[in-house]
Amino acid sequence: MDDPQNPVPESAQYHLHEVLAAIEVALEPVLKRIRKLERRESQSERNHRLTSTESREARTKAWTVRKKKQRDRARKRRATPGNQDAEKRKRVLRDRKFEVLSHYGPDGKLGCSCPGCKITALELMSLDHVLGNGSEDRNAQGHRITGDNLYKRVKDAGYPPNYATMCLGCNFAKKQGRACPLAGRSHIGE
Ligand SMILES: [Zn+2]
Ligand SMILES: [Zn+2]
Repeated sequence: MDDPQNPVPESAQYHLHEVLAAIEVALEPVLKRIRKLERRESQSERNHRLTSTESREARTKAWTVRKKKQRDRARKRRATPGNQDAEKRKRVLRDRKFEVLSHYGPDGKLGCSCPGCKITALELMSLDHVLGNGSEDRNAQGHRITGDNLYKRVKDAGYPPNYATMCLGCNFAKKQGRACPLAGRSHIGE
């Protein structure tokens, strides 16, 4: 007789237990494999984390070293009272600028090459590429060479032609319209 409290017959219940046990046994190798994969994954995740942490630390360390070098170099060059290195460097740069810009000035003297311009202050002078192809003065990386690097380059090259010393005003005007608007006239009071 069927138990009204339990709609599943006793024999069927027993059978169900057997089926569940059989499924469990059948699933065991699969579960084992899943657990193994899970373990392996977390291990590789851990390894990855360790590796990236290490490389991050290495990168940070390299960055710190690089920054320290830059700071030291900047400190060495900084014109603070009593900094002999900075003073010396400043003198060397000024001497080279004077030498190169005098060479390319009118009659080999420091001054602006624009006719009529009387400016002779070294601080206001720059080197002009006469043919307007200053963009050809580039280093191996393709960056424009200006300032002391350009002075050094032309001096080392034995003062090639097609350069002229110009004051910044005339040079600027020339760059705008290919010629200084005051060329040939007095540059003062106009
Ligand atoms: Zn000038
Ligand atoms: Zn001019």
